[in-house]
Amino acid sequence: MSTTYLIKNASVLGGDPADVLVRDGVVAEVGSLGSAEDLTPDPGSGGGAVEIDATGLVLLPGLVDLHTHLREPGREDAETVDTGTRAAALGGFTAVHAMANTDPVADTAGVVEQVWRLGREAGYCDVRPVGAVTVGLKGERLAEIGAMADSAAQVKVFSDDGHCVSDAALMRRALEYVKAFGGVVAQHAQEPRLTDGAQMNEGELSGLLGLHGWPAVAEEAIIARDVLLAAHTGSRLHVCHLSTAGSVEIVRWAKSKGFPVTAEVTPHHLLLTEDLIRGYDPVYKVNPPLRSAADVEAVRAGLADGTIDAVATDHAPHPVEAKDCEWAVAAMGMLGLETALSVVQQTMVETGLLDWAGVADRMSARPARIGGVAEHGRGLEAGAPAHLALVDPSASRVIEPGTLQSLSRNTPYAGMKLPGAVVATFLRGAPTVLDGRVVER
Ligand SMILES: [Zn+2]
Repeated sequence: MSTTYLIKNASVLGGDPADVLVRDGVVAEVGSLGSAEDLTPDPGSGGGAVEIDATGLVLLPGLVDLHTHLREPGREDAETVDTGTRAAALGGFTAVHAMANTDPVADTAGVVEQVWRLGREAGYCDVRPVGAVTVGLKGERLAEIGAMADSAAQVKVFSDDGHCVSDAALMRRALEYVKAFGGVVAQHAQEPRLTDGAQMNEGELSGLLGLHGWPAVAEEAIIARDVLLAAHTGSRLHVCHLSTAGSVEIVRWAKSKGFPVTAEVTPHHLLLTEDLIRGYDPVYKVNPPLRSAADVEAVRAGLADGTIDAVATDHAPHPVEAKDCEWAVAAMGMLGLETALSVVQQTMVETGLLDWAGVADRMSARPARIGGVAEHGRGLEAGAPAHLALVDPSASRVIEPGTLQSLSRNTPYAGMKLPGAVVATFLRGAPTVLDGRVVER
């Protein structure tokens, strides 16, 4: 029998304090519920409830990440489904979408089912595999999209992330294909002909540092093309990790036209700028690259006004040898799961751009809807599945890479003080994190 939890005095979505009773995997009651001893004994367990004092804490629906690299199968030296989902739980996530650029690539029913099963076995988080759009991410012919959608993993999101589906005819066919079952194509928008050898954002600083520039137009040109293809096909497009002011403008325009388009931004593009690259530390090397302060301001505004639907981590673990080397040969990517909510608190909540209900919308409700994860992203009302994150917004911590649950250490926030801490995470009513620590399965 599962334990019953009474979460006392939590600020639900940052609003008025309330008590939340979690029983048999669902939110059983919300309101003023007295103490655990006053409750009617659970007919199932026959026992009382475990009481959690949540005074001063904010209760959110469990977070949903649309963009996680779990690296398994193939790169278990960087991350596994087990370590990645432990990191996710510590970050307040209850569902993550696992990107397809594994080895082998998740381009068949067999591989997506393997990842889905590994997620179930680990048990820290619901793992929703993303299927590749093209065979081997090569951009030449469509992968077995239908077979992945029909598999036990029930794939809804398809992406060649890491690579762009740059062939317009292939992108059109992918959009047409997923439309039949309500799927979505998540595009890594990067025109490869404009980013050959690119190392950092193109601008004054790239000239100064002598690094080959990565122009904003390489991202914007693909997004502009794809929103038109989405309108033409009437099929859903999701733009991954949008990073420039111009990209925000294009998505805003597409939405004003009613095109079926959604977009995400990463925590690092909400906080960090290209200026960090002056020291040539490859921990700041990422795809798309860190941009200018004006771009950071534009993506924050886009997330605040809903042009950008979701925060997605693009959690990209790399082993030490892939990052602890010269800038030019270092791998691109940063860790994100364990710090995402703190970065959003600092950049969006403490700046007054979003309240906690807005955070719940951008980090749970909307990503769940985009990914077609019906059970997640629900409101905190009686009867909803108990996927919850309990957060202490008054806490703060200095990020120490050695203490992260991820197998990798490539966090760009090492030594930085970030606000907020996830105190507890519940998946289907069972704690995956309690007192800020992973609950061993
Ligand atoms: Zn990407």
